[in-house]
Amino acid sequence: MATFNFSGGIHPPELKNQTKDLSIKEFPVPEKVVIPLSQHTGAPAIPIVKKGDIVVAGQKIGESQGKISANVHSSISGEVVDVIPYNHPLISKPAPAIIIKSDGKNSQIEIKKTYWDYYRYSTQDIIKVIQEAGIVGLGGAAFPTHVKLSPPKEKEIDTLLLNGCECEPCLTCDDRLMQENPKEIIEGMKIIMFILNIHKGIVVIEDNKKNAIEAINKIVFLEPNISVKIVKTKYPQGAEKQLIKTVLNREVPSGGLPFDVGVIVQNVGTSYAIYQAVVKGLPLTSRVITVAGDFILNPGNYRVPIGTLASDILSYCGYKPEEKPHKIIFGGPMMGISQGILDVPILKGTSGIIVQESKNIQFFSEYDNCIHCGKCVDVCPMELMPNFLSYYAEHMLWEKCKEFFPNDCIECGCCAYECPAKRPIVQHIKLAKFYLSKK
Ligand code: SF4
Ligand code: SF4
Repeated sequence: MATFNFSGGIHPPELKNQTKDLSIKEFPVPEKVVIPLSQHTGAPAIPIVKKGDIVVAGQKIGESQGKISANVHSSISGEVVDVIPYNHPLISKPAPAIIIKSDGKNSQIEIKKTYWDYYRYSTQDIIKVIQEAGIVGLGGAAFPTHVKLSPPKEKEIDTLLLNGCECEPCLTCDDRLMQENPKEIIEGMKIIMFILNIHKGIVVIEDNKKNAIEAINKIVFLEPNISVKIVKTKYPQGAEKQLIKTVLNREVPSGGLPFDVGVIVQNVGTSYAIYQAVVKGLPLTSRVITVAGDFILNPGNYRVPIGTLASDILSYCGYKPEEKPHKIIFGGPMMGISQGILDVPILKGTSGIIVQESKNIQFFSEYDNCIHCGKCVDVCPMELMPNFLSYYAEHMLWEKCKEFFPNDCIECGCCAYECPAKRPIVQHIKLAKFYLSKK
């Protein structure tokens, strides 16, 4: 298979040694979880439990509404103590959430039916199972998976790319999942290919994950329609459009989606979740996250109940909040979201919690004028002109911004990483997107 390349990109320090050799551990059942009703792209779920209700782990507690939405389930057993707005890691103000106090029993919902013989059912039946299980993209975007697996009829899909790149520094949760659960991941991939009725699946892994490549290859060896593609370690290799360009040399048009070029991209964690839902009958109630960075005494990869508070996770991992100020990031250091407080829950799309020492933090106000070096243009994987976008957004010239395609920006941060003037280019572009969306 030929190898292609995407333009731009950077090679930040990988910073994966802290956790890449540590096996996934089960996180203890927390005393309380906070399950936001909005953990995904689209409309929030509607609560179907109320204060005082007793729930078990795996029980549906929020029902999806509208075309793009996802169910949410309790991740522990216990009592619903409130349904109120609570701190949310991605939204600047509190958002509706279901708060559950553990009864310490971790009772699980009874599994009535599994679809291990999924190929005997219609694709719609299996999509419904995935929808019921509340599965969303676990690579970060949290787009409802049942919607992604139902592309418009006129789009001819021929290839599934299973994304095992994990190009963000510090994160190793996908790497460990591929090493420890390769069979389940490939079975999940086969379910996706069955739904899409396609016969070409490629697992894409960066060349810095030798053990994962070996583990996946051992399973794929037996699969005639699935292959492994090893790609160079380069950020943001795992971004959908860059992945498609590198592996298939197809270019997703401006404003388009992968299905416009016949491709569906899914993350390895999502594939694992699909296997769990279809073959084992288990809804999405937990995920593997990487906990790493400065002042973390017990870094690692943990399978954590959705809705566990960052304060509980960091405390378990030996972090002392009084050592502030530090930067706490949900996700990786390039595209993750900084958290101002620790009383905030992890979501289905949270891939890690990373702590950065204060001396490494760059504050928004400390930046200079553009010196027109062009470095940001060189590294932009979307071939944009981040310098102009930043300048016009800084001066609130939104119509001028529009001429430079801000909505094509994937917010990868390559431009800001390279900028010698330390300009907050991504924040500027996010502002431009926000104001232009209001017009
Ligand atoms: S953040 Fe946007 S503008 Fe900057 S390099 Fe990435 S895609 Fe280009
Ligand atoms: S990298 Fe920074 S200083 Fe250089 S052109 Fe881009 S915005 Fe200007």
